[in-house]
Amino acid sequence: MAEAQGTAAAGKLVIRNIGLMLSGDLAKPILDADTVTADGGRITAVGKAKDVDQERATVVVDAKGTTLAPGLIDSHVHPVFGDWTPRQTQLNWIDSFLHGGVTTMISAGEVHLPGRPKDIVGLKALAITAQRAFAGFRPSGVKVHAGAPVLEHGMVENDFKELAAAGVTLLGEVGLGGVKAGAEARQMVAWARKYGINSTIHTGGPSIPGSGLIDKDVVLEADADVIGHINGGHTALPIEQILELCVRSKRAIEIVHNGNERAALFALRTAREARQLERVILGTDSPAGSGVQPLGILRMVAMLCCLGEIPPEQVFCFATGNTARLRKLDCGLIEVGRSADFVLMDRAQESAGKTLLESVAVGDLPGVGMTIIDGVVRSGRSRNTPPAVAIPEVVGH
Ligand SMILES: [Zn+2]
Repeated sequence: MAEAQGTAAAGKLVIRNIGLMLSGDLAKPILDADTVTADGGRITAVGKAKDVDQERATVVVDAKGTTLAPGLIDSHVHPVFGDWTPRQTQLNWIDSFLHGGVTTMISAGEVHLPGRPKDIVGLKALAITAQRAFAGFRPSGVKVHAGAPVLEHGMVENDFKELAAAGVTLLGEVGLGGVKAGAEARQMVAWARKYGINSTIHTGGPSIPGSGLIDKDVVLEADADVIGHINGGHTALPIEQILELCVRSKRAIEIVHNGNERAALFALRTAREARQLERVILGTDSPAGSGVQPLGILRMVAMLCCLGEIPPEQVFCFATGNTARLRKLDCGLIEVGRSADFVLMDRAQESAGKTLLESVAVGDLPGVGMTIIDGVVRSGRSRNTPPAVAIPEVVGH
């Protein structure tokens, strides 16, 4: 196993002098705290410096007054193997996302594998192999939840039972394979759910060759856990259909970078009017035809905040706590017992906004100064974001 790549056990971590702490929880997005500790990769305390035991630390980080948030989660990626994608012939794309604050990724199917098998035994073998490969090797420490089979005709209940027993926890986007009819998809999604497998459906016009239009009737009938890219990936449904999906379904509303921005804002406003922002989650849908977007989640946060007129501290919850809850992950919230996965940010130099939150509210990207996964510092000043005003520092061991 590749322990050296991100599964090393962490000692006690203390992060102090945090200027603003974002919780990831829509119910209370800002915490009245300036210090976090973690041990063995789990959060052990959150509070004011004087109330938190900072003794016997293995690593101390001085946040220098910057903002700490849960590490961002990209709810929709298409990895293949390791830190390589054939889609745009890129190496180290996952490391680049880490520099955009992303610490966890969810595969919506390893669909870009050249020669991807479409027979049932082959697609199951690929899913199990991808799950194992990313469980054993975390590129730059990033947690990639992969092994998401793409449904094909003829799969039976026992296939889902077998996949779950082998460790598969996700379905690839329904609709990218042969299964595109509502009734057939509904049956397979139900089997997956019965065995604890989380499902996503492709929504909108076709993307890769072999995919097709998935309209609101198919999405509603299939009833997958996540309405994948409700704003299209790339091509969105008419907004009347998006409205119906938001109102008639209770499932997660996933908005992606690789989709239609007008449809994204429409879905967001509909969710807000329905008082259902807790259903909104964010993904990039990369690598894709539009490339890989290392800052894609931060760009979505800024866009949805400044054009969707949602407070920035709430929009960060879409990319953290909401996704963790709807994808059943142990990260995404600043809370004792959770995975110690963090991103530290500050406003970008010369932003018109005077604080981190103000800068995002006017549509600027924050500067990432540090990422931490499982209580271990993974990166410092981002090579991809604009430079932050203040940068956290490791001050002690
Ligand atoms: Zn898709």
